[in-house]
Amino acid sequence: MNAIGLRIRTYGDPCLRKKSKAVKEVGPSERFLINAMIETMRLHKGIGLAAPQVGLNEQIFVADVGDGPFVVINPRILKKSGSDVMEEGCLSIPDVLVKIKRAESVVVSYVDENNRPVERKCDGLLAKVVQHEADHLNGKLIIDHATLAEKFKYKKQLQELQKSRKSGHS
Ligand code: ZN
Repeated sequence: MNAIGLRIRTYGDPCLRKKSKAVKEVGPSERFLINAMIETMRLHKGIGLAAPQVGLNEQIFVADVGDGPFVVINPRILKKSGSDVMEEGCLSIPDVLVKIKRAESVVVSYVDENNRPVERKCDGLLAKVVQHEADHLNGKLIIDHATLAEKFKYKKQLQELQKSRKSGHS
């Protein structure tokens, strides 16, 4: 398959703030989208990408923390344990890093690209990515986790991102 880079929506795009809809059935068009999302994530050297980030409010995300692509549809986090702070970035909010406290491990139930229901325990970096991407499906962004000081630090940068989006410079 040729590399298809989907356009990544950036801060200020309404898609990033909407709640995504559950996928009824994974068919050829969903699989095409999933492959394009994996390709886009790789092109941008990301470790996770959620459908709203490419303009589609569907409950789909892809991740790859170095051990191959992980495709998650209609996720539900069933269990969280431990906690730990990590500095996170987001392809939709370039050059912004926020320290976020999240569970160290999660049990997630989801449907895979072949419509099979799966339950998986994720630890470490993958657990963080799963929580970050699940936030995207609920319209939540890293900046919502920021402290007031961090919000203040990035205020101008976020305004610039919003402005450049409106004037059409991607
Ligand atoms: Zn993100």
